[in-house]
Amino acid sequence: MSPALTANWSFPTAVRFGVGRITELPETCRAVGIRQPLFVTDPGVAGLPMTAAAMEACQSAGLSCGLFAEVQPNPVGGNIDAGLGVYRDGGHDGVVAFGGGSALDAGKLIAFMSGQTRPIWDFEDIGDWWTRADADGIAPIIAVPTTAGTGSEVGRAGVVTNEETQTKKVIFHPKMLPSVVICDPGLTVGLPPHITAGTGMDAFAHCLEAYCAPGYHPMSEGIAVEGMRLVKENLPQACRDGRDLEARAHMMSAAAMGAVAFQKGLGAIHAVSHPVGALYDTHHGLTNAVVMPFVLRFNRAAIEAKIARLSGWLGLASPSFDAFLDFVLDLRRTIGIPNALSDIGVDDKCFDLMAEMAAVDPTAGGNPVPITPKEARQLLEAAY
Ligand code: NAD
Repeated sequence: MSPALTANWSFPTAVRFGVGRITELPETCRAVGIRQPLFVTDPGVAGLPMTAAAMEACQSAGLSCGLFAEVQPNPVGGNIDAGLGVYRDGGHDGVVAFGGGSALDAGKLIAFMSGQTRPIWDFEDIGDWWTRADADGIAPIIAVPTTAGTGSEVGRAGVVTNEETQTKKVIFHPKMLPSVVICDPGLTVGLPPHITAGTGMDAFAHCLEAYCAPGYHPMSEGIAVEGMRLVKENLPQACRDGRDLEARAHMMSAAAMGAVAFQKGLGAIHAVSHPVGALYDTHHGLTNAVVMPFVLRFNRAAIEAKIARLSGWLGLASPSFDAFLDFVLDLRRTIGIPNALSDIGVDDKCFDLMAEMAAVDPTAGGNPVPITPKEARQLLEAAY
């Protein structure tokens, strides 16, 4: 792989990017003052040799490591409570969040909650609720993504499902931003094609919705359009040949770019996808990809000119809204994304409930066309 794809970034946090840079984890822990890191991951990632290797390297460097590997996909409040118990019992002084978005979010939330006295739900991303937190009680976090999709590694929030209400909640605090991120594309080579596809489409959805969200944020829009170009040029290849480190590197960049871009806002793709994920435990990125064309059609009148401009940047023949929609449908086909919600285990029993949940999801406000339960239901029916 070209050495030109190695760099140090400081936007929005310090990112050590490049193949092999996981070897810098021990010194990174020391640099941010972590002596007893708790590795937080999921059972699948915990069983991979690369996880054992990263922990062994830290142990050999004199760090005292612990492991909490009980994070489930779409983590729930109980996962955070269990991880907090391990963190406190082990006397840890920081978290290495190691894995996909589920592990990264859980790790960030455990570090955040380690010094709080109020329940986690008091810190939902509503108004200034984050100011309720004791900022000094947030432990340092190093994030090591092993998927390329959520961009949680560069984000200031964690997503967690409240088991009682069966709703996905976004917990936010500016200090939940990891101190250092190690983006090593080599860690993603073992991702199976279907997870590569779903997570990659998550990155694309973040960029697309950020680009379409109303409001003035040219930096986010610039990042979003280049993120989408990277997905277009690299996701099919990353799915075809998971060992292609160049494609993996560009997808890892696109994932981080999506999360940086969506400071501007998200929209109906996420508003619909969140209740579906909360009730049916579907993969987040895959759900976004299934819903995407239906939301594009729904928003057409408000975004047509913008999408035509985007399709020019993406190099589509005859740039237009229709060319972009065809491209999205084609990309989905190429990487094996199913067409409809009914193909991913969702039934039509809870449409009314999900429509209500979608309309009040915090991401709904970023959609360029207002979403009430009526429109959300129409979208669900179309995507079903
Ligand atoms: P994930 O973390 O749930 O992982 C999916 C699967 O991939 C798991 O089975 C895991 O074991 C496996 N896996 C991970 N890395 C692997 C590797 N290198 N090799 C082989 N298998 C590997 O999936 P995700 O899409 O990364 O994260 C989804 C979660 O992130 C959801 O809970 C979603 O709500 C959340 N999310 C958060 C944000 C945010 O800004 N914080 C944004 C989007 C999504």
